[in-house]
Amino acid sequence: MKKGIHPEYGPARVICACGATFETMSTKKELRVEVCSQCHPFYTGQRQMIVERRGRVERFKKKYGL
Ligand SMILES: [Zn+2]
Repeated sequence: MKKGIHPEYGPARVICACGATFETMSTKKELRVEVCSQCHPFYTGQRQMIVERRGRVERFKKKYGL
């Protein structure tokens, strides 16, 4: 890899919109993100999906009198 062609890859500080900061590897020294592992909708979204699915099963049971 020739020097100067590729941006330097190294530790970077990620600053999230929620205020959390953590280290990662990037070509940039500082990264600003909208979501992180602490506030990512994936976690709450997944929980919602499980609840939704459970609700669907309950409805199914009621419908068929189980
Ligand atoms: Zn966050």
